[in-house]
Amino acid sequence: MGTLASIDGRLVPPGAARLSIFDRGFLYGDSIYEVFRTYRGHLFEAEAHLDRLERSGELIGLVLPVPRGLLLARIERTLAASGNDESYVRLVITRGEGEIGLDPALACNPHVVVIVRPLAPPPPDVYRDGVEACVVHVRRNLREAVDPAAKTGNYLNSVLAVREARARGAHEALMLDANGRVTEGSSSNVFAVRAGGLATPPLDGILEGVTRRVVLDLAGQLGLPAAETPLGPEDLFAADELFLTSTTREIVPLVRLDGRAIGSGRPGPVTRRLLAAFRARAGVAPVDS
Ligand code: PMP
Repeated sequence: MGTLASIDGRLVPPGAARLSIFDRGFLYGDSIYEVFRTYRGHLFEAEAHLDRLERSGELIGLVLPVPRGLLLARIERTLAASGNDESYVRLVITRGEGEIGLDPALACNPHVVVIVRPLAPPPPDVYRDGVEACVVHVRRNLREAVDPAAKTGNYLNSVLAVREARARGAHEALMLDANGRVTEGSSSNVFAVRAGGLATPPLDGILEGVTRRVVLDLAGQLGLPAAETPLGPEDLFAADELFLTSTTREIVPLVRLDGRAIGSGRPGPVTRRLLAAFRARAGVAPVDS
């Protein structure tokens, strides 16, 4: 059990897993990636993650160097060799190495890296009591810059957002766009619950979270109205409930925002109902039990 890597199809222990210092992922963040997780040892929503990886590649002109089936096979092989009960899986594709220079044509040998490590889910109190978020000063970058819809190795925006959130004692940073609209968390999507219905920012300047999509699906099944609609920070403060969604954190109640209680200040009934439905969809026991 433990951490294991695969580089271009070769299994390597983490201490020996190396890429060149001339790799463009290292030099410029010129790479794309996905984070998957397993439930009962099986990848969750693997096809949705690979679809997004392909879209990320299209957005930065990086063609997947190996077919999807082979990417999956490499992940599965690394998972099997790791022996973990549940795993976190990071798949990174860098544009490769070449002469130093910005021109992407300087590299023509993309690398495929898989990192598997034991899953470290949030502790139970995160779900039982909820967490605090804050609206940070760092803004989400424009679609016309590095489109937030692409999951690239260029995550400095989110790194700075988390830095600010930690300094303010918050679990997650929520970022606004240049116009002051709510976008998403540093590594999560955000939902508000109003009058029993869900509202979440539209796919315009955010990453399309795989968990976000599953939650919207579940809302439909549970008969909860759900709108993908622009939200301002005032909508978040006025919400009955707030929650974030992400692959590794599932659905986490946000009970305080910038030091102010949201709704009752406790995880709300809609959030808890969705979390129960989500865990049932993933085929595992509710978090409380
Ligand atoms: N937004 C950003 C910026 C992220 O990095 C992530 C994590 N991949 C998410 C949202 C949530 O996406 P997912 O549900 O696919 O993990």
